[in-house]
Amino acid sequence: MLDILKECEGAKRIGISGHIRPDGDAISSCLALRQYLLNAMPEATVDVYLENPIPTIFDGEIGYSEIKREFPDAAPYDVYFVLDCSRERLGEPGKYFDAAAKTINIDHHESNKTGVGDCNEIDPDISSTCELLYTLFDKKYVDVEVAKCIYTGMVTDTGVFQYSCTSPDTMRRAAELMEYGFDFPSLIQRCFYEKTYLQSQILGRCLMESVRFMDDRCVVSWLDKRTQDFYGVVSKDFEGIVSQLRNIRGAEVSIFMYEVGNQEYKVSLRSSEKVNVAKIAEKFGGGGHARAAGCNMSGNVYDCVNNLSKYIEKQLDASPEGEEQDA
Ligand code: 5GP
Ligand code: MN
Repeated sequence: MLDILKECEGAKRIGISGHIRPDGDAISSCLALRQYLLNAMPEATVDVYLENPIPTIFDGEIGYSEIKREFPDAAPYDVYFVLDCSRERLGEPGKYFDAAAKTINIDHHESNKTGVGDCNEIDPDISSTCELLYTLFDKKYVDVEVAKCIYTGMVTDTGVFQYSCTSPDTMRRAAELMEYGFDFPSLIQRCFYEKTYLQSQILGRCLMESVRFMDDRCVVSWLDKRTQDFYGVVSKDFEGIVSQLRNIRGAEVSIFMYEVGNQEYKVSLRSSEKVNVAKIAEKFGGGGHARAAGCNMSGNVYDCVNNLSKYIEKQLDASPEGEEQDA
């Protein structure tokens, strides 16, 4: 098991990044690790680099205002951590990773097979990168602020301890974290359930305009660039739409896509239990987890849905254990 503090011994400058379009787990794991390292190594400098847009709902976490969103050239870091992704989803901060003396990759995505660091801790069976980090932390340096960050990443990646990535150990660790005494009901409300009025409206519109196919076992909704501009919404406003589509009774797979360039879509996939959507996303250069994955696709909406459908149908028709099939 990776010994974080041993690997950082003697390091004066440490850098940390998570994936582009960072979500609760990516942001919280970076901030949890930063605070943990500062607690254990007060004389070290620890910088977190993340690409915008960074959701503001996580601004209650320690170090949020210190996140670096610009990426000037800097002297190589002694140690650079890549959390919750592999090299290709780092965006511009990837250059710090490339230049660092030592790199460490900590992730729980099943599509990140081996890790891309000099040292790697990859566990696809754990709920979140935050939970994985917590298992690696020396509890001596975990304080209430670190606990809050870890708990947040676990809450967002497990859908408040509902998704199948939630294990009995996840619950035991969550219980331990609660002992630190932070206001978890308002944290869950703010970081998971609460939406702005605009976000609620765009969710409503996507549900209204959704289309079911494959005997109603799949449901898809999308937003083209014009509609996004009309409402003035951006990617962080779409969080939760794909899960809400998946909540429709009978839906095995939900797809949400939004246009990011001319005829270029960012695609989110969710599955109830039969289909391994990570395997499908990987076919299109993306990845993720069995029940939640994503990729980028080119073409119009109908091309994209057709291309995805082929693989979804194969798994749905194959057996109840879609995961076992070579999708
Ligand atoms: P979301 O649909 O919420 O954007 O992502 C669902 C899961 O799939 C997350 O764990 C996310 O990190 C992963 N994911 C989304 N898009 C991509 C992608 O393009 N490549 C990879 N490797 N993973 C992705
Ligand atoms: Mn994650």
